[in-house]
Amino acid sequence: MKKLFAFLVVLGMFLTSSNADDLLKTVQNRGVLKAGVKYDFPPFGFVNAKGQVVGFDIDLVKYIAKKLGVKPEFVQVTSKTRIPMVQSGTVDIAAASMTHKVKRDLPIDFTISYFFDGQSLLVPANSSVKSYNDLSGKRVAVIQGATSGDNLKKVNPKVKLVYLQEYPQAVMALRRGKVAAVSTDYTWCMAQAKASHGKLKVVGGTFTNEPYGMGVRENQSNFRDAVNFALQDAVRDGTYAKLYKKWFDVEPNKLPEVWPK
Ligand code: GLU
Repeated sequence: MKKLFAFLVVLGMFLTSSNADDLLKTVQNRGVLKAGVKYDFPPFGFVNAKGQVVGFDIDLVKYIAKKLGVKPEFVQVTSKTRIPMVQSGTVDIAAASMTHKVKRDLPIDFTISYFFDGQSLLVPANSSVKSYNDLSGKRVAVIQGATSGDNLKKVNPKVKLVYLQEYPQAVMALRRGKVAAVSTDYTWCMAQAKASHGKLKVVGGTFTNEPYGMGVRENQSNFRDAVNFALQDAVRDGTYAKLYKKWFDVEPNKLPEVWPK
């Protein structure tokens, strides 16, 4: 009898805890998906002239929230804070231009890759720098918590890395001549070059692979499945290609994987 009672207590605990700890149910009961997004990384996440947070990541989150039957709520994250904010549950998901790295998959989980970029260099239009080889002994701005610093050090250990908090500070440093280059993903670099009206240019092509995944809390497979299915629905119904065209002005170079139904 005692044993049966103990068994039932444990079973009860297991059932309530597994239920309470189902992030998908929590989000759906709350009616809100809390998404960590960038405010400093156009065209993925940034604040437009009207003060609205917009971008490719934001539009994808809106689509995912709709599929989950909830409203999206956007919370600012930076390259440095996005993983801790997913871990602590401050946000349910980080859709924040985040490269899915094996190392990053230890503290959190990732969705399927939904964008494929690579690291590049942003330099002044009159710069003679053509690749990372020309940056030996030169100061290069990178952002804390981004992949860029480690990546650049690997290909050219003689670079002097200058770590900054957010991307606009890096552009400012470059414009003021405090650094010879800013290094991060190609798409952001291109957006900066475009917005600079001929003052900045992108050089060196891409020298890393940066597949973006959305960060979600560890061991929440119902939630992660739901987000993965929503991302794949976006590919299937053409939303992904439409958003890609809207934000990058080109056709997708590669589509996210779609699992057969
Ligand atoms: N995709 C790179 C990363 O995850 C650079 C862009 C960013 O800082 O978000 O580190």
